[in-house]
Amino acid sequence: MRCSSQTRNGQRCKAAALSGQPYCFLHSAPEKAREVGARGGSRRKVFDLSKLKDFPTAKNATDLMEVTAQTLSDVRKGKIDAKVANAIGGLAGVLMKLFEHTTFEERLTRLEAFREEYVRGKRTH
Ligand SMILES: [Zn+2]
Repeated sequence: MRCSSQTRNGQRCKAAALSGQPYCFLHSAPEKAREVGARGGSRRKVFDLSKLKDFPTAKNATDLMEVTAQTLSDVRKGKIDAKVANAIGGLAGVLMKLFEHTTFEERLTRLEAFREEYVRGKRTH
């Protein structure tokens, strides 16, 4: 059976009624629902990200390591939201792959230039 109450916008509540009652959980005890809602709200911690240590944009693996290590510490101390820390971790992983790729490309370019000179006889070793 459907709950016979109405939602805030005047439509019929779509939730199932509690067995043997005309209303759903929320509508059979609105005070209780408000209480649960308020508790959920206060449990949500507000994080002041401006208080976190500032880092310049990471340019290499060492920079990345510092930010990641600091984030690990911050999330363990409850200074930063786990979701934000997760995002930082994910992006750090992407950036690390890009750094590795870039370093590889640079080395390859240098090796190719060296080989070119070697083939033309400009270099002997
Ligand atoms: Zn209801």
